[in-house]
Amino acid sequence: MTFSLDLSGKTAIVTGANTGLGQAIAVALAQAGAAIVAVGRSSMEETERLCRDTGAAFHAVQADLSSLEPIERIVSEAASVSGRIDILVNNAGIIRRADAIAFTEKDWDDVMNVNLKSTFFLSQAVARTMLADEGGGKIINIASLLSFQGGIRIPSYTASKSGLAGLTRLLACEWAAKGINVNAIAPGYFVTNNTEALRNDPKRSSEILGRIPAGRWGDPTDLGGAAVFLASPAANYIHGVVLPVDGGWLAR
Ligand code: NAD
Repeated sequence: MTFSLDLSGKTAIVTGANTGLGQAIAVALAQAGAAIVAVGRSSMEETERLCRDTGAAFHAVQADLSSLEPIERIVSEAASVSGRIDILVNNAGIIRRADAIAFTEKDWDDVMNVNLKSTFFLSQAVARTMLADEGGGKIINIASLLSFQGGIRIPSYTASKSGLAGLTRLLACEWAAKGINVNAIAPGYFVTNNTEALRNDPKRSSEILGRIPAGRWGDPTDLGGAAVFLASPAANYIHGVVLPVDGGWLAR
């Protein structure tokens, strides 16, 4: 084989790793051999157990990414436990639902701060460490179908995820020649807290399900392969893509 999905000896920061897609990504990267630095607001107990069960090293960093305040601490803590940060997965994200006509400034700012602003400045801080030793690295942003589509009743979420697709391309262009691959994954409709309101609405839920060619909602474990691939040497010549993992939704 001329390519490798092996992440042994690598360290990956995963934000929002306590639950949902972030937890599944952390476990998949751990299974591929990476040490995990899990960043988030809430207890990482379950993620820690699942990652350690694979034999991976694990470190949790308590941090609220609604502001830039914890960013330097996240990077210095991750670097001090591992020596080097090789992979960053910007997964933490929130959503607020309301008609555009009534949408509040708070629901705009809260979503943009976590989904876009902190993602950019954490990427910048991590990239500085990757550039300092010229060792390169992999940055993976968790985008959305709303990076491609408009959606309804989620104006700040659509703006943030569309912005994140653009930011992925910009960072890829600036850092590709320096050995950093910046790419994104666009998950379709997955069973997590993020989609609870949709799944609890029988009409919206059956409309969504009826449009997914695969005929089912995504399970968080469906995302692991794409994350490991983009984090691995097999993706060394891939820059600036937004890879849908959506059961065929965008192909429809
Ligand atoms: P989730 O709500 O289960 O997880 C979100 C994670 O982000 C949690 O770990 C949460 O603690 C963390 N987080 C939120 N605000 C934070 C903050 N201020 N500081 C630190 N951590 C914070 O939802 P999920 O579906 O697992 O979402 C993960 C990512 O995937 C998000 O970026 C979301 O937009 C994206 N996404 C999800 C779906 C889906 O169908 N579930 C689809 C497309 C994109």
